[in-house]
Amino acid sequence: MRTIGHYFDGGVAPFEEERTGDIFNPSKGEVQARVNLAAADELDAAVARAKAAQPAWAALNPQRRARVFFRFKELIEANMQPLAELLASEHGKVVSDAKGDIQRGLDVVEFVCGIPHLLKGEYTEGAGPGIDVYSMRQPLGVVAGITPFNFPAMIPLWMLAPAIACGNAFILKPSERDPSVPVRLAELMKEAGLPDNVLQVIHGDKVVVDAILDNPDIKAVSFVGSSDIAQYVYNRGSAAGKRMQCMGGAKNHGIVMPDADLDQAVADILGAAYGSAGERCMALPVVIPVGEQTAVALREKLVPAIEALRIGVSTDEDAHYGPVVSAQHKARIEGYIQMGVDEGAELVVDGRGFSLQGHEEGYFLGPTLFDHVTPEMKSYQDEIFGPVLQIVRSASLDDAIALATRHQYGNGVAIFTRNGNAAREFVQRVEVGMVGVNVPIPVPVSYHSFGGWKRSGFGDMNQYGMDGVRFYTRVKTVTQRWPTGDTIVDQSFVIPTMS
Ligand code: NAD
Repeated sequence: MRTIGHYFDGGVAPFEEERTGDIFNPSKGEVQARVNLAAADELDAAVARAKAAQPAWAALNPQRRARVFFRFKELIEANMQPLAELLASEHGKVVSDAKGDIQRGLDVVEFVCGIPHLLKGEYTEGAGPGIDVYSMRQPLGVVAGITPFNFPAMIPLWMLAPAIACGNAFILKPSERDPSVPVRLAELMKEAGLPDNVLQVIHGDKVVVDAILDNPDIKAVSFVGSSDIAQYVYNRGSAAGKRMQCMGGAKNHGIVMPDADLDQAVADILGAAYGSAGERCMALPVVIPVGEQTAVALREKLVPAIEALRIGVSTDEDAHYGPVVSAQHKARIEGYIQMGVDEGAELVVDGRGFSLQGHEEGYFLGPTLFDHVTPEMKSYQDEIFGPVLQIVRSASLDDAIALATRHQYGNGVAIFTRNGNAAREFVQRVEVGMVGVNVPIPVPVSYHSFGGWKRSGFGDMNQYGMDGVRFYTRVKTVTQRWPTGDTIVDQSFVIPTMS
């Protein structure tokens, strides 16, 4: 069976039998590989290697660091197909969607190819008599990233690209459920010219996460995952004096106004609710039709479209989505479907009991649709993270805005309308970090930045874009005056001012 060791010293370390985890093939429902799970002392050794490697990397001029990323970009493009197949085989998403996962990370790699420009500081000539002031962005040193299973290429790239381009050494702790693509990315970075141990991949579970949070030489930690763990990681890391950014779970709402283009809205909602089997933090698992007529018309169009969805193995080119990540996660989603029934929501389409011929052991779920879901229901309040769409009917735009605003999560939200005023009011008032107007999955492009509000994000700085550069650097500001050659001694016990 394939084994996956840690990545350091420019290669994959030999597999150790001591602590291991199983990697499944969700389409087949069987174990396909095993991964090492690091102990705390293995993490500490990685930090020591990173500390030794970082100064020389930071001393390289930013243009030369950027060139590594130009080559890395080309290598990812050249390896797109095998990377996507490997990713899909461990995650379960279909190969075309896996390519999107890689591409959205590649976008961030392209952004950091401009790192010489992004790192330029500020300069003021003549801030006082003979005094100039300038500021610069310096790397933090050793930093780490902890990533979830659902985007095993995109999210590691969100973090490692700006961190390394800024001159840091980066330790990646990917999800232990699909760790192979992160290792391949590290191999490609080496091929692109990255010196050893500027990037290491250390696999593991809570043990290694806690070791990251406790190691005093790690200066900043970026985390993406579920909210309870994000909050725990944020609190423990902050208490240890680290800079932290921790993105959490989501329950994104799609508001459908009476004047929306319903056919387009239905097409958008289907892709956003069921794509990747709903295992996206920017999925759209709640739809809010405004007004009874909109609800009736929307439901009429949604039901046949949902029933026509094709579920297949991750290599099926015609499949709309594949299996969910594990048997355990499948059971959890089924539990939420039962909860919705018990809470009194109307189960319009039931995805349970779906079985794919020839792949009966795979972790497949058909699409589920609930109507008449209400805000008191726990199945509405919680993130389900599966192919389950809930209709919450609302009477007005105000009610719809209030629903999205009151929800514990505030990652993404979308409005479907032809009315510019309604859209504008919605954008201004809704308390959610990323908003789409007739755009169902408003993941910002790589030169903006990604971050949710409320329990979807802990910490002040977003992922990637300029916030990525800010997160992985600190500003030093220099106020300088050079001797003029005169020997007049200037002494004062008053705080210096420019008056
Ligand atoms: P998860 O929280 O289970 O795991 C995330 C990371 O935390 C993994 O690396 C895991 O090894 C580690 N971890 C797990 N349990 C831990 C513990 N008890 N202590 C310390 N570390 C622990 O998340 P997941 O199931 O891999 O990913 C899905 C979740 O991630 C969903 O909630 C989804 O919404 C969220 N997500 C959020 C974003 C975002 O940007 N907001 C993006 C993608 C996914």
